[in-house]
Amino acid sequence: MADCIFCKIAEKEIPSNVVYEDDKILCFHDLDPQAPVHVLIIPKKHIASMDDVQPEDQELLGYIMTKVKDIAASLELENGYRLVNNCGEDGMQTVQHIHFHLLGKRKLTWPPG
Ligand code: AMP
Ligand code: ZN
Repeated sequence: MADCIFCKIAEKEIPSNVVYEDDKILCFHDLDPQAPVHVLIIPKKHIASMDDVQPEDQELLGYIMTKVKDIAASLELENGYRLVNNCGEDGMQTVQHIHFHLLGKRKLTWPPG
């Protein structure tokens, strides 16, 4: 989608520090890390937010969930991690291309801010 920064990252029009990539998804380091490990996992398909997920996206979203543990293992997050999706205004979503934050390598407090 035009003017979507994460579509541009997926298409390599904007550089990123890639952790994992295949034909369906991309994982790259967050520019403004909130933990010693902070990466973003995105589908290459443009989906604006969790609110925009359609029934036909079930397989793709499920695929992402099956990849999390492999990406976490590659980042040596054997002590645990947090997977976060921010949705909409109250969720403080700033990039309108669905993404999952994977954070680790520190004790993550609860509740989040
Ligand atoms: P959210 O606030 O959940 O929408 O998260 C968007 C995330 O994207 C933030 O953590 C930003 O630091 C991150 N971000 C924005 N632009 C880039 C970029 N070009 N490369 C890597 N991370 C980015
Ligand atoms: Zn996009």
